[in-house]
Amino acid sequence: LGDMLFIPQFTLVPKEEIPAQAALLLFTEKENRLIGPESILNNDAFFLPISTFIEQSERTLFIHIGNLEKDGNEIPLFCVACHSEFVLEAGLIEHSFGDIFRDMEREEQIPFARAKQILTWERTHRFCGSCGSETELHDHEPCRSCPSCGAIFYPRFSPAVIVRITRGRQLLLAHNKNFPEGLYSVIAGFVEAGESLEETVRREIQEEVSLEVENIRYFDSQQWPMPHSLMLGFTAECPLGEPTPDKEEIVDAAWYDPENLPEMPKRGSIARRLIDDHLEKLGLL
Ligand SMILES: [Zn+2]
Repeated sequence: LGDMLFIPQFTLVPKEEIPAQAALLLFTEKENRLIGPESILNNDAFFLPISTFIEQSERTLFIHIGNLEKDGNEIPLFCVACHSEFVLEAGLIEHSFGDIFRDMEREEQIPFARAKQILTWERTHRFCGSCGSETELHDHEPCRSCPSCGAIFYPRFSPAVIVRITRGRQLLLAHNKNFPEGLYSVIAGFVEAGESLEETVRREIQEEVSLEVENIRYFDSQQWPMPHSLMLGFTAECPLGEPTPDKEEIVDAAWYDPENLPEMPKRGSIARRLIDDHLEKLGLL
């Protein structure tokens, strides 16, 4: 986004009232892929001019998720999943949302995370989970309600902890069975019902690598819309012991010297920031 600012909003706007300069983030059916030019020099290229799409679309309302502000100009940003209703211009292709997102600067991720999470919530809360009736979208806040029983559904986030474990200068890094080959990262896991975040940190570390930690400290957080995680970053110390991977989720885990690290997560992830923060403190970055 460079010097662009994003101000979140939520309104349903009738097609004929959409300003000509508005931009669109256009996703495929299940929001896994984002439409953009074939070669992307800058992620601003994903903000497509909406005018070419609204003319073709049969939908009457579009979701306005916020405004992009740059040099005193305000550009309303809309989002749509299901691009099959549009004929894509030459040169526009589908990109993996996850790959694009993992490579973005943190500030840059905000409108993309918001668009994806709102669209995923829209698609997965069309019916009431309590009585099965069709839900209705509120016209100026991200809220779906059930006209039969009154249940209310806001965009869903699933809290997960992510924790960097250190032993002096060394970092504990693990290879999860779902990671690309050769990639190592810090430990992460979803918060379970009834748990405090610190309890999740202790349980996940115990389950995945059989270690006891101390000095658990909050680090930072990040929305991780694959599809709706909220990552809560922590640091912890482990003065004693060798990791024993559970072999179910974690296939391999070891202590690493900071000068000799394996392949790391991409820079757009809180995992990478946890690792980089340790290297910075050691004067290595
Ligand atoms: Zn209901």
